[in-house]
Amino acid sequence: MALVIQKFGGTSVANIDRIKHVAGLVAKTRQAGDTVVVVVSAMSGETDRLVKLAHAITEFPDEREMDMLLSTGERVVIALLAMSLRALGFDARSFTGRQVGIITDSTHTKARIERIVADRIQAALDKGIIPVVAGFQGISEHDDVTTLGRGGSDLTAVALAAALKADRCLIHTDVDGVYTADPNLVPSARRLAKVSYEEMLELASLGAKVLQSRSVEFAAKYGIPVVVKSTFVAGSGTLVTKEDRDMEQVVVSGVTGDRNQAKVTFIGVPDRPGIAARIFGPLGQANILVDMIIQNVGQGDLTDLSFTIPRADVHKAVDLSNRIAKDIGARSVEVKDQIAKVSLVGVGMRSHSGVAARMFETLARERINIMMISTSEIKISCVIEEKYLDLAIRALHEAFGSGKG
Ligand code: ADP
Ligand code: ASP
Ligand code: MG
Repeated sequence: MALVIQKFGGTSVANIDRIKHVAGLVAKTRQAGDTVVVVVSAMSGETDRLVKLAHAITEFPDEREMDMLLSTGERVVIALLAMSLRALGFDARSFTGRQVGIITDSTHTKARIERIVADRIQAALDKGIIPVVAGFQGISEHDDVTTLGRGGSDLTAVALAAALKADRCLIHTDVDGVYTADPNLVPSARRLAKVSYEEMLELASLGAKVLQSRSVEFAAKYGIPVVVKSTFVAGSGTLVTKEDRDMEQVVVSGVTGDRNQAKVTFIGVPDRPGIAARIFGPLGQANILVDMIIQNVGQGDLTDLSFTIPRADVHKAVDLSNRIAKDIGARSVEVKDQIAKVSLVGVGMRSHSGVAARMFETLARERINIMMISTSEIKISCVIEEKYLDLAIRALHEAFGSGKG
């Protein structure tokens, strides 16, 4: 008898019929003799709707209140799914993040899980109850509701799998696995039978929203086998697991894009030691994640310095950057938010050269200008104008042979 975590995303629980369908899938797992813990998201579109409501009141909602608001979406679904399971004759109980004991830090809207006290879930399982857990939410040491960042129900599922030492963590969604590119954008994309934690982490952090990046980090750290599969069609899905030899044969496993980007440029920055620290120190303290950084060749004793940040942090970053600019004597700050990042990911890049050159040629052929480049052992990313993102993804997917290298 295995312990299985089954997580269902927003489209899988978008209405009552789908919730009933999900209850049927959970029932099947039980009938197969396995023990199951269910994790659910809010109905699709609900979290966005709640965000909009908050923004109709104020441009910068208080983050504690935001978490109180956003956590309601998942509460609705746990209750409805528990009712559906009970209607099928199972003893099911819903649990909020707090009731589970998902303890996080106090970074509202993107809290990190510190520990999980899963006693109550374990006790329920021991009694044969099916726990239905609200994804995406936790509780801080101050007893305030927190949320785990968008897409955070994946993290709830993986973290619970680790805490309960589950045998498998199944992420049920609206696609039947992880593809070489977003299948909704690139129809010729192929499903990957398996993908390494490392590649999945890059794909997820670079925009492939099929799994939340922190959930992949967690899965890798605790060695949790994660399977991404469809809620609607049967199939084996994609196994996210440790790297093996087959995976190295493929140069590029995936192409992905991220619109959630903005570029900040400090113009006329004094070119002397200590300046970079005075710029990036305060941005780090404000929890603004700086990604790519470029310092241009200086003219005289002045230089320009550009970096990318998540688009959602633009307001916070602009205010802060203007203050920093004044402080260090930079001439001005410029912000461009119509940018995007396109990336190639694959562990095979370690042993194959020429991938970058082919990527640049492909973008050049489509007359797409590259603003910034960054590489790691298994990925190459280029910042381009947002309007060319879909074109870039399709062209690169084609150039790299549908991800076959
Ligand atoms: P859920 O609501 O179930 O969590 P998400 O919308 O968060 O689902 O993630 C699933 C979506 O991820 C798919 O509908 C697909 O459009 C998108 N996606 C992006 N890149 C990929 C990829 N490489 N493989 C599969 N899906 C991808
Ligand atoms: N409902 C949350 C969101 O939309 C969490 C999730 O779906 O994983 O981001
Ligand atoms: Mg998701």
